[in-house]
Amino acid sequence: MNISKRERFYGKVLVRSDAECWPWLGFIGPDGYGTFWVNELQRMIGAHVVSYCLEYGRPENNKKVDNKEICHSCDNPSCVNPKHLFLGTHKDNMEDCRKKDRNAYGTRHYKSKLSDEDIIFVKNWKGPIKTLAIKFNMQYSHLCRIRSGSTDREKKRRALDARRGIEDNSISRGQVCS
Ligand SMILES: [Zn+2]
Repeated sequence: MNISKRERFYGKVLVRSDAECWPWLGFIGPDGYGTFWVNELQRMIGAHVVSYCLEYGRPENNKKVDNKEICHSCDNPSCVNPKHLFLGTHKDNMEDCRKKDRNAYGTRHYKSKLSDEDIIFVKNWKGPIKTLAIKFNMQYSHLCRIRSGSTDREKKRRALDARRGIEDNSISRGQVCS
């Protein structure tokens, strides 16, 4: 039985309300964008592009529609909520990225620091790491290091605590990254 492209596509999307981001659950490239196999083009193309084209009935052509790029109003490259996508020129996209302090490919620099609050959130998170990687737009391996307390920052903190005589009861120690 043949399933439609739409069904195949939405099988890999966490659909939520219009206001929320819809994370792509399929493959996400190193640039933070989801990718989806398009039979007609015989290649992988950006999941956000497919989403836009499915929603607005436009033909897919790698990255551009009407010679414009598909941009995210939500600053979340892995989001495929069509309500968060708009057509802009390459220049719009670059300016948008600059304003949001991102590089040309839409990812935050992967070494960007999480706030202390974010780190507590990461450590207490019980769900899949992949979801965190999407939420914070960070590399999976770096999030694992944060959870296991093996980042340089964590080591420094532990050394400091030890000097102060504070017992380290970090919940994350020894926790296996699943
Ligand atoms: Zn979004």
